[in-house]
Amino acid sequence: MTGGCLCGGVRFEVTEPLVSASWCHCTRCRRRTGSSASPNARIAPGSLRIVSGEELVRCYQPPDGFAKCFCSECGSQLWSRSPDDPDVISIRLGAFDDDPGIRPMWRQFVAYAAPWDPIPDDGLPRHDEGRPR
Ligand SMILES: [Zn+2]
Ligand SMILES: [Zn+2]
Repeated sequence: MTGGCLCGGVRFEVTEPLVSASWCHCTRCRRRTGSSASPNARIAPGSLRIVSGEELVRCYQPPDGFAKCFCSECGSQLWSRSPDDPDVISIRLGAFDDDPGIRPMWRQFVAYAAPWDPIPDDGLPRHDEGRPR
């Protein structure tokens, strides 16, 4: 599976099937994406390879939670990374070139969902806060 940013400077590939996918409605995801929610896929540890543009990737590390990594040239959101374990990475589904072969399985932080975008009645489990582990 391949993907990249809008300007094409950052290109990546994922060498193993994606592990899970979900919608995140938290306030941070709303702000960082400029949209109502962020669809992400968790990858198998060690399966992300940056093919080109590694020097363009910047990460914003909020005081708590995952670092948000993006292309510093075009601003495209690429993935988030655990501050505790750099192998724990979730890639934004929109960054993939083609069908990543997985569909969101749940919605989390729905207590913070944008009021202007009602959550669709898609049957997915909804978690007010983060999904319990
Ligand atoms: Zn870019
Ligand atoms: Zn979020």
